[in-house]
Amino acid sequence: MESFDVIVVGAGPGGATAARTTALAGLSTVLIEKEKIPREKRCGGGLSGATLDELDFPIPDRVIERRCYGMWGIQNNIRSEVRVDHCVATMVTRSVFDAFLVEKAMEAGARVRDSETCLEVHVERERVVVRTEKMHYCAMLVIGGDGVYSVTAKAVRPKWSKREMRFCLVADIPLPKECIDQKMKELVELRYGYIAQGYAWAFPKKNHISYGIGGSAKQARTLKRSFSSYLALHGVTGKARFKGWHIPITEFRHDVVADRLMLCGDAAGFVDSFNGEGIHYAIVSGKMAGHTAVHAFKKRDFSKRMLLGYQEEFCRRNKRDMVWSARLTNLCSRFPRLVFGPLLADRPTILRYFKVMSGEDHFRDWALWIIIRLPWLIVKRFLQRIKASFVSLRDDTRRQAEREEKEEQEM
Ligand SMILES: Cc1cc2nc3c(=O)[nH]c(=O)nc-3n(C[C@H](O)[C@H](O)[C@H](O)COP(=O)(O)OP(=O)(O)OC[C@H]3O[C@@H](n4cnc5c(N)ncnc54)[C@H](O)[C@@H]3O)c2cc1C
Repeated sequence: MESFDVIVVGAGPGGATAARTTALAGLSTVLIEKEKIPREKRCGGGLSGATLDELDFPIPDRVIERRCYGMWGIQNNIRSEVRVDHCVATMVTRSVFDAFLVEKAMEAGARVRDSETCLEVHVERERVVVRTEKMHYCAMLVIGGDGVYSVTAKAVRPKWSKREMRFCLVADIPLPKECIDQKMKELVELRYGYIAQGYAWAFPKKNHISYGIGGSAKQARTLKRSFSSYLALHGVTGKARFKGWHIPITEFRHDVVADRLMLCGDAAGFVDSFNGEGIHYAIVSGKMAGHTAVHAFKKRDFSKRMLLGYQEEFCRRNKRDMVWSARLTNLCSRFPRLVFGPLLADRPTILRYFKVMSGEDHFRDWALWIIIRLPWLIVKRFLQRIKASFVSLRDDTRRQAEREEKEEQEM
C-alpha cells in the first residue's frame, strides 16, 4: 500500500488541475489514470477565452491547432456569419492538451500512474483507500476527476438521471490545410435544428475538421442518421467512423462531496447546458477542489462539513450561470423557430455571447438581456420575413409582366 496526502483519480483537465494545485501547495499527490497518457478523448476541443484565463501558465503553440475568430450560426434558412478581430475559440486536440496539463501537474510535483484503473474507493475512519487493478493507495483525501462514468462518484452521489444526460457523436475528417482554410475561414460552424437541447458543429483544426453532434440523450438512437445527413451537407459521405460519448449536466440535486471525497469536472456534472462546454468548469472545479484540499490539511479536518465549502464556493460563483444556461437551452429547444431563429439572426446577441465566452460577461446577464429583447427580435424577424415575401412577390409579378410584354412584342 502506497501512501499520499491526496489521491486524484482521472487525468482529464479537472483531475490534472486539481493535482497541480495540491502539489504546488506541497501536498504529496498521486494522479491515477486508467489510460496510457496521452490518451484519446472524444471532444470538439474548443477552448473559450475564459478557459485559458483559468490556467496559471500559457498554452504553447505546439498544443494549439487553430484560433477561430467568429462563427456561422445556422438554423433552417438563417445563416448568420459573425466575425470579430480577436480570437473567440482556441482549437486543440484533447490528447495533446490533456497530456500538457498532466505535464504541468508533474512539473508541480504530482506523481502520475497511468494505465492503472481505479476499481473502488473506500472511505475509512482515519483514511481513504483506493484500489486499482495493480495495487492499493491510501490518503487523507480523494479528488474524483474521473469523468462522466466516474467510479469515485459511486461513493458520493446517486447515478445520473436521464434528464441530466446528453449524448454526442464525433468524427474527425482529415483534409489538406488549404482546403480547411478555404472552407472554414477561421470560423466555427454551429448548426441548430438537428437535435433537441443541442446542435451540430464543425471545428477546424490543423489537418482535419472535427465534426460533431450532441443533445438530448433521449434522441441518441436517431442521432446517427442526423449526423450522417449533417456530414453529407459538408460533402462527407461514405464510411466516416463515428464515436459516441455522454455529457452530464447537473441539476444540482445532490452533493458532490462526502467525508474525505470531492468530485470535480464531469464527475460532478459541471458542464454548460447551452453549448456543452465542460473543460472550463473542469478546470475551475479542479482548482477549487485542490484549494479546499489544502485548506482541509491546514485544519486537519476532512469531514463532509469541511469539504462542503468547495461545493458552496463553486455554486456561489457558477450556479446561477449554469441554471440560466439550462433554462435558455430548454426555451430554445421548445420553441426553436420562434425563439432561436431571431436570436441567431441578431448580430448584437452573438457579439455579446462572445463576451460570455471570453469571461467578460456572465451567462445569466446575457440570458436576461436577450429575454427582455426577445419580443422585439421576434417582431423584427416577423417583419423581415413579411418584407422578404413582399419583395419576392413584387419581383415575381415584375418578371411575369416582363415575360408577357415580351410575348406580346414577339406576336
Ligand atoms: C463529443 C464531445 C465534445 C465536446 N466538446 C467540448 C468542447 O469543444 N469544449 C469543451 O469545453 N468541452 C467539450 N466537451 C465536454 C468536455 O469534453 C468535458 O466536459 C471535459 O473533458 C471534462 O473534463 P474532466 O477532467 O472532468 O473529465 P475527462 O476529460 O473525461 O477526464 C476523465 C479522465 O478520467 C479517466 N478515468 C475514468 N475512469 C477512471 C478510473 N476508473 N480510473 C482511473 N482513471 C479513470 C479517463 O480515462 C479520463 O482520462 C465535449 C464532450 C463531448 C462528449
